[in-house]
Amino acid sequence: MTDPIRPQPGIMDIALYEGGAAHVAGISDAIKLSSNENPFGPSDRAKEAFQRAVHKLHRYPNTDHAALRQAIGDVHGLDPERIICGVGSDEIIHFLCQAYAGPRDEVLFTEHGFLMYRISAMAAGATPVSVPERERTTDVDALLAACTRRTKLVFIANPNNPTGTMIGPAEVERLAAGLPKQAILVLDGAYAEYVEGFDGGADLVNRRSNVFMTRTFSKIYGLGGLRIGWGYGPRSIIDVLNRIRGPFNLSTAQLDAAEAAVRDRDHVDRCRAENTRLRAWLAEALAERGVPSDTSTANFILARFVDESEAAACNEYLQSQGLIVRRVAGYGLPHCLRITIGDEASCRRVAHAIGQFKGQK
Ligand SMILES: *Cc1c(COP(=O)(O)O)cnc(C)c1O
Repeated sequence: MTDPIRPQPGIMDIALYEGGAAHVAGISDAIKLSSNENPFGPSDRAKEAFQRAVHKLHRYPNTDHAALRQAIGDVHGLDPERIICGVGSDEIIHFLCQAYAGPRDEVLFTEHGFLMYRISAMAAGATPVSVPERERTTDVDALLAACTRRTKLVFIANPNNPTGTMIGPAEVERLAAGLPKQAILVLDGAYAEYVEGFDGGADLVNRRSNVFMTRTFSKIYGLGGLRIGWGYGPRSIIDVLNRIRGPFNLSTAQLDAAEAAVRDRDHVDRCRAENTRLRAWLAEALAERGVPSDTSTANFILARFVDESEAAACNEYLQSQGLIVRRVAGYGLPHCLRITIGDEASCRRVAHAIGQFKGQK
């Protein structure tokens, strides 16, 4: 007998998202380089704001997030009325799919794109469509060619995770201009702060009615554990998303910490500079040890190995040395390992261990 209690079609086809591993059995002080976290953690001001929030825990949070939207608007030069805040940018991605895509609609993303696009599309009952990249880089022509009458959302992460590559503003604009009229281009700017002077696509959002940008506090702001993200888009889209957003989706502690974090520009600048310096060092150190990577614009490197078995063996070896990196077979890159840029000591340890692994063979 079939169970009469059944979820909506498609939901049981969703493969569960697996986060980066955090522990190695038998090793107590492993270094976690598997989730693109900021090794320097959040701004002290964000931590202080979080601690102060403890005195307000009996009060419901504010529902319109006005103070946080104003802070984001001030810092980035954006209209706070066109900002929406969510439980990580994951929630914003989820809102977009829920609001704009349903059964028979198509949601496009790139071959090695972020897994949440597929998961959120399927949760909404829509059809996920993976589009080939060129040399591990977003291919605008391929995306345009994949569009149909049913295309509702096109997600690209720029810079992309896990490849670390990005495309320039002219290419992004060509994509936006070429989409069918009913489709929204979503620019996921989770790593935008790592690119000096990059606005994540905000200017394009200002100039077009079919472009939306998502951002997060999980990466350069070092607040992944707190779960805060935001989106910036045309007023009409923000209005739609606010109707499905839970009024109390963000807690007082989240709102206060994020507001303090976004206003601490020195912390962001220091983290970006250190990431840029260590990323260049690590990429070169790995190349010298026979492990190439594409030029990364984010806070990780996608290290390429000869084949899947070498990548798996290197992953095992790194684990035995207390170093946790990310296998990315689930992203269609079985011969690669994604390595987050840690602090200087971690970068040196990972380069040394990969050198030893390569030397052993
Ligand atoms: C890490 C990451 C995010 C951030 O997700 P949050 O829910 O804000 O933590 C979004 N997009 C991409 C591509 C990422 O790698």
